[in-house]
Amino acid sequence: AEVVGGSDKEVVREYFNGTGFQRWKKIYGETDDVNKVQLDIRIGHAKTVESVVMMLKEDGSLNGVTVCDAGCGTGSLSIPLAKEGAVVCASDISAAMVQEAQAKAKEELQISDTSPSSSIVMPKFEVKDLESLDGKYDTVVCLDVLIHYPQDKADAMIGHLASLAENRLILSFAPKTFYYSLLKRIGELFPGPSKATRAYLHAEDDVERALQKVGWKIRKRGLTTTQFYFAKIVEAVPA
Ligand code: SAM
Repeated sequence: AEVVGGSDKEVVREYFNGTGFQRWKKIYGETDDVNKVQLDIRIGHAKTVESVVMMLKEDGSLNGVTVCDAGCGTGSLSIPLAKEGAVVCASDISAAMVQEAQAKAKEELQISDTSPSSSIVMPKFEVKDLESLDGKYDTVVCLDVLIHYPQDKADAMIGHLASLAENRLILSFAPKTFYYSLLKRIGELFPGPSKATRAYLHAEDDVERALQKVGWKIRKRGLTTTQFYFAKIVEAVPA
């Protein structure tokens, strides 16, 4: 179903294949050529990834667990999950992101013939917007993607992601509680018209309502904050 229609999605796709790709590849990478704000976002985002991996492991080993990483970016979550033995399907609307994620996974996972007993499975990478994902996964994760869509679009995206998950759905989003402080900083987050995509904040209640509408309830909550990065993390399960 086409839940994110027309222009929003096209703008996002174009951004993440162009200036957005360059910008976020740097932020999600390890090189020193980042400014203070970008470094702060890098650290905040890494904390979110770490929290999510921990949340997932609380329920037991990830060995053999199927995970859909929707909007995988450069693979920041897919790669550590694969290291834990998860069977990951990673997809993103941006071909540039998928290519980068794939290259990073090859480098970091180094599945060698000399250790055939290794339980690491190379993630399956695909260029696909999350609306066209299908199939069933034990766990679906979608980190820092909803920020690109207004709540009405996000509702449908959340419903669709829940329909792909058998046991768990983890979402992270920029919470509306930090609206004012974030607004002040939004210029620094998305400077310049060419780099700009709109940033949408989501109220936790709205996300919770969208989950309830499709029969899911929130079981765990987390929050990452640094100076310039805010992410609410929710883990939902069938109600
Ligand atoms: N989830 C990754 C992470 O946390 O490292 C990447 C987060 S990045 C801020 C947002 C990503 O969402 C981008 O890679 C972008 O291309 C992707 N994206 C945006 N809209 C999407 C959609 N409708 N379907 C799939 N991916 C999308």
